[in-house]
Amino acid sequence: MDGVVVVFSAVLGLAIGSFLNVVIWRVPRKESVVRPPSHCPQCETPISPSDNVPVLSWLFLSGKCRHCKNPIPVRYPLVEAGCGVLFLAVAARFGASWELPAYLVLTAALLAISIIDLEHFIVPDRITAPLTVSALALLGVAAVAEGNGWRFGRTLLGGVAYFAFLLLLNILYPKGMGMGDVKLAFSLGLYLGWLGWGQVFLGGFLAFLLGAVVGVTLIATKVKSRKDVVPFGPFLALGAMLTILWGDPILRWYTGA
Ligand SMILES: [Zn+2]
Repeated sequence: MDGVVVVFSAVLGLAIGSFLNVVIWRVPRKESVVRPPSHCPQCETPISPSDNVPVLSWLFLSGKCRHCKNPIPVRYPLVEAGCGVLFLAVAARFGASWELPAYLVLTAALLAISIIDLEHFIVPDRITAPLTVSALALLGVAAVAEGNGWRFGRTLLGGVAYFAFLLLLNILYPKGMGMGDVKLAFSLGLYLGWLGWGQVFLGGFLAFLLGAVVGVTLIATKVKSRKDVVPFGPFLALGAMLTILWGDPILRWYTGA
């Protein structure tokens, strides 16, 4: 059963990745993500279903639009393949379980948020708001299925704690921590809180550690100056994903258990 779920999730991830490419392009431009259907951003010709197969169509068309022959950025197949691999890893982590759908939704949202934040320096409400609603609904369903209300209580507290911590940083240092990051932290705290308090702390710790290491490296190599803004959303996302996938062994190692 778990094997079937893992394979199905990986294929689903490829298809969701294709949709994320639309989200990544249109959400920062305030366009609808459903209408019009996928079209070439250069010549606006609608993309036929047979040219919209994740990864394979891009390879088959040698990375060019069939009509105008303009290049289609390599980011498109990379997002599709990346989403497929991440869905596979998350499905392998949770197996056939009530919590799996919740974590797959999170994975897709974090992939889109990370790329949008790197490109446009925003963590859009149009993604974090539905992510928060679906986190509460899907983890709520999982808690009911498990008959574990106590666990859902810790989930809510995890969300409040991570949100409050980043809100404090936003008040102290508004240039370094945007409100988009603060709102995202509420969802991340829910997902990490579902797993445990150790995971909430580890998720935050890894985000700040990786953010600091990359920030210092970019300044030391003069890629960025001290005045440049480095988006923090991707680090929040990375800290949470690493904790979700490998937090248990890391915490066992740390506590020597
Ligand atoms: Zn075209």
